[in-house]
Amino acid sequence: MKVVIIGIGLIGGSFARDIKRLHPKAKIYGRDVNPAHEDEARVLGLIDETAGGRELSEADMVIVSVPVDALLVELPGILDAVGEQTVVMDAGSTKSLVCKVVENHPKRRNFLACHPIAGTEYSGPSAALDGLYEGKTQIICEVEKTAFKLQERAHDLFRDLGMRIRYMNPESHDKHIAYVSHLSHISSFMLGKTVIEMERNERDIFDMAGSGFESTVRLAKSSPAMWTPIFRQNKGNVLEILDAYIGNLEAFRDKLSNDDFNGIYQEMDNTNKIREILKGIPLNNKVK
Ligand code: NAP
Repeated sequence: MKVVIIGIGLIGGSFARDIKRLHPKAKIYGRDVNPAHEDEARVLGLIDETAGGRELSEADMVIVSVPVDALLVELPGILDAVGEQTVVMDAGSTKSLVCKVVENHPKRRNFLACHPIAGTEYSGPSAALDGLYEGKTQIICEVEKTAFKLQERAHDLFRDLGMRIRYMNPESHDKHIAYVSHLSHISSFMLGKTVIEMERNERDIFDMAGSGFESTVRLAKSSPAMWTPIFRQNKGNVLEILDAYIGNLEAFRDKLSNDDFNGIYQEMDNTNKIREILKGIPLNNKVK
């Protein structure tokens, strides 16, 4: 099997690690705009060689794991360069624009629009992890637009990685991912900013930040180069959920300012439902 990975950071590098483990004979070629990342990926054993045009035309699979602004620019040229039997998949965190940019491409049937719901706050080849995708969801959009044989090849890989598949249309994907992922990142970035501005003593932040602060602010370590284009591409959905969130923050503030502690208790009690949603823990297990 010949695989080309374009953008060998956390996501592409993690695919490389697992493909090597599952298919020791696979040849993995990489291409990255950042020469230091290409070298690092080679030293770490994520890729065997740098990919040129020939590798693209002969590849069984191409994984394009670059930031979503670069994806719009790169994907049409990648499709031009691949062979008739190559499946090209992306990993972008937004799906509407990428599906639009290739909708009339002559090789549209070679492309599978994907978003693996897996990751960490770290970037680059050294952030790549073994088993990152195990038990995680792979969202696939517009599956019917991909040639069936090529869908099957991608599905075989996702099954071997232990992924669950969920099909969505690109617009629903972008709306729902704004709720569960994009808002969390904004919330974490602005929590970090607020604490840095208010608590000038960095040593106090370090010493007094319990696991609550640390876990809530974890996403604020994420790469601005990856997240700025995501917010640009999904601006409408992000503004909608951000307005709802700001409304909730203001309502909470009003309750606190008006000594409405029953109201505050109720807000938190209602929101404890998230335990049930996320972990299946019954509500009657709550400790009040
Ligand atoms: P990453 O660790 O920063 O890796 C991306 C790599 O692509 C970097 O080495 C970057 O180089 C390189 N690159 C940028 N533009 C390029 C271009 N035009 N051609 C070739 N290489 C290019 O990012 P990542 O976390 O793996 O994210 C990759 C994609 O997966 C993004 O579309 C993101 O939305 C999506 N995704 C991320 C996560 C997550 O949790 N991180 C989860 C699911 C999906 P430079 O660093 O020098 O720019």
